[in-house]
Amino acid sequence: MTNSPVCEIELDGRVLFVKRDDLIDPFLAGNKYRKLYALLQTPANKFNKIISYGGTQSNAMLAIASLCQRKNWEFIYYTKPLSLTQKSERRGNFFHALSLGMRHVQLQEMHYREFIASLRLNLDEQTFVIDQGGADTSAREGLEVLAQEIRETNLDVKALATPSGTGTTALYLAISLPEYTVYTTPCVGDVLYLKEQMSALAEIPNNLVILEPEKKYHFAKPYSVFFEIYKKTLSCGIEFDLLYAPGMWKCLLEQTDEKVLYIHSGGVSGNESMLQRYKKKGFLALNADTTVARVSYDISKHRIKA
Ligand SMILES: *Cc1c(COP(=O)(O)O)cnc(C)c1O
Repeated sequence: MTNSPVCEIELDGRVLFVKRDDLIDPFLAGNKYRKLYALLQTPANKFNKIISYGGTQSNAMLAIASLCQRKNWEFIYYTKPLSLTQKSERRGNFFHALSLGMRHVQLQEMHYREFIASLRLNLDEQTFVIDQGGADTSAREGLEVLAQEIRETNLDVKALATPSGTGTTALYLAISLPEYTVYTTPCVGDVLYLKEQMSALAEIPNNLVILEPEKKYHFAKPYSVFFEIYKKTLSCGIEFDLLYAPGMWKCLLEQTDEKVLYIHSGGVSGNESMLQRYKKKGFLALNADTTVARVSYDISKHRIKA
């Protein structure tokens, strides 16, 4: 697999760079590709089953489904109960993950926590459990590969940026690249929660800078400011996800002024269902221009091999 490309964009009069990890693959891309890299390199006969759990529109779920399809591993995904509308949706991450062979199991709300906590009990050797969002120390290997690719770009840039959920990506990136400042921002929960999540994996290094949003945004809720940023970046010719990227771009544009290489964390496949919600909420109806501007790219060139 060749290094993912780097693009130069101009945003608010600033020159910035974007590492296009979104182009790696339609389903197994962005930071989920990096986080699952070690598993992708694992010989197919090492496991026969992967178990994970979490949200039904999760990008990690879709990436794992794609990984398991390539490896011919069974994939079982546990969630809390789903609405009928969600189950019958013909688009979005959940629909695509099912098409890739994912087996979905609903757990009753009251049993969910206990069941998840007991997942690793009595596991056979050929089953591997991936925690929600792929927060695992095994993510480090793939992020070191990304770090090496970034060094090889030889760009005159001293700062990187990537948004955080669990913080796994930003943390291992900062650890692997001590010569760079790595900016991130919490998109799920607040700064304190993010630091706790990171500290559970490794000590937070000094070159990792957590930018604090000026107000609290609830994860996966439509916000008009986020939609404005989405459209602005789209007009640069790059589509970013609607859950994480807008918060990162907002902090980056408002709180920094140096040249930054933004690591595209993928997740664009989730926009299908998110754009629908923006529409329903009556936030700026997607006009024809925006739809046309959605970038199409030749994915066949960037397909990865298992
Ligand atoms: C999962 C995800 C993140 C968060 O990654 P963490 O390593 O959990 O911090 C950020 N952006 C996108 C698009 C994602 O899918």
